Amino acid sequence: MRKPIVAGNWTMKKPTVEAVDFSQQISYDLEKFTSKVEVILCPPYTDLKSVFNVLIFDKSFIKVGAQDVYPKDFGAYTGCINGDMIKEIGCEYCIIGHSERREYFKETDEFINEKAKYLIEKKIIPIICCGESLEVRQEGNYIDFVCSQVEAALSGIDADEVAKLVIAYEPIWAIGTGLSASPQEAQEVCKAIRDKIALLYSTDIAQQTRILYGGSMNVGNVENLAPQPDIDGGLIGGAALKSADFAKLAEAFYV
Ligand code: PEP
Repeated sequence: MRKPIVAGNWTMKKPTVEAVDFSQQISYDLEKFTSKVEVILCPPYTDLKSVFNVLIFDKSFIKVGAQDVYPKDFGAYTGCINGDMIKEIGCEYCIIGHSERREYFKETDEFINEKAKYLIEKKIIPIICCGESLEVRQEGNYIDFVCSQVEAALSGIDADEVAKLVIAYEPIWAIGTGLSASPQEAQEVCKAIRDKIALLYSTDIAQQTRILYGGSMNVGNVENLAPQPDIDGGLIGGAALKSADFAKLAEAFYV
């Protein structure tokens, strides 16, 4: 039985004062979901420590994650943050390979694989994003495209680590557009990802890996996305910025 995950990707939103108030509200609104759903807040780097402190003070079950990491321990990498740094401020998870990083920062599959291996070494759980553009979807070969992103991201990673990590399927055309994939479209790709992991590792490992859907998930569509057998939760942008909405999404995955 895979424990569902509801993760909020705040992107470059919420300055610290707002983030502190907001995480206090979330901690209160989501208190009742303890133990049956894993909730992760991924604020900007500058908010991480403050948000973590609020959650610790509240003895909350909610965890924090970073939105990215640079896979080197030390050196002249201006503007970068390493794994020890995010771990020190409470991160148990880290998003990597988000389509915005792939697009704006030209991150390759190889670099994302390097980050995944680096995070595992640091005992931080990677949330590895994948997903096709509208163009790839319209051409029809989106399953192969997404599965090859997943295969590249997992290259050289041991089976027991793959069982623990998280994949987030986020079709680019659905992120921030209000145009979510339909439950059938999201399930089709999440299942294909699980089948790919089974092929690369084993069915047993594939049954343990948690696969999230992300892309305009909201209170209006979560009821139909959540019951899909291969969707183990959500990576949520816009709807994670309103505490009441985020709580409703957590409730939908609360089984
Ligand atoms: C995201 O930013 O990863 C995301 C899925 O955003 P939204 O839910 O707003 O589409």
